[in-house]
Amino acid sequence: MDFTFVSDHLALDFAATLTWRTSYPIELLAEPADLAAWVTQAGLTDRPGRVGRAALDRARLLREAVYRTALAAERGEGAAAADVRLIREYAAGPQVVVALKALGEAERRGGIDQALATVAARAGELFGGDDRHLVRHCAGASCTRLFVDRSRAGNRRWCDKLSCGSRANASAYRRRKSASLPSEMAPPSPHDA
Ligand SMILES: [Zn+2]
Repeated sequence: MDFTFVSDHLALDFAATLTWRTSYPIELLAEPADLAAWVTQAGLTDRPGRVGRAALDRARLLREAVYRTALAAERGEGAAAADVRLIREYAAGPQVVVALKALGEAERRGGIDQALATVAARAGELFGGDDRHLVRHCAGASCTRLFVDRSRAGNRRWCDKLSCGSRANASAYRRRKSASLPSEMAPPSPHDA
């Protein structure tokens, strides 16, 4: 599976591996192999090694804590103490080691636990710092992806302009068009065909 990385933050991309949360949730980390693929595609580690069912369960726990905390940040609310504790505990373990091999070439060494610890540490950086004020919720209908708004004007609305953004623009265009058409210019009814 090809995962999407559009949140401008690793931890928020991780939170988005459960999509369309409020309408028809889709679990993208369905199998341990999906988690191995995600940490590899995220550039966290070159070889996550064997990923078992228990690691998948741990990953989902971390993901949900990150999601709830991101939502709290976006709403300007306080985070749940249990979620803060969980994110901190996950980050306490050894993290992925990035070893420079040559100019333009680095090796990322660490198993799945190190990868999750790195995600948790990055989440801690985000939620513990000023960038937490930049966490936004996608304006796309039914989309539950969160992102960090790094736009200069601070007006980014979509997780992904090419998916959520263009879908919304297309339906707004259709609405405008049908609202502004004089009746004699209305599209032909099926009877005219
Ligand atoms: Zn979206």
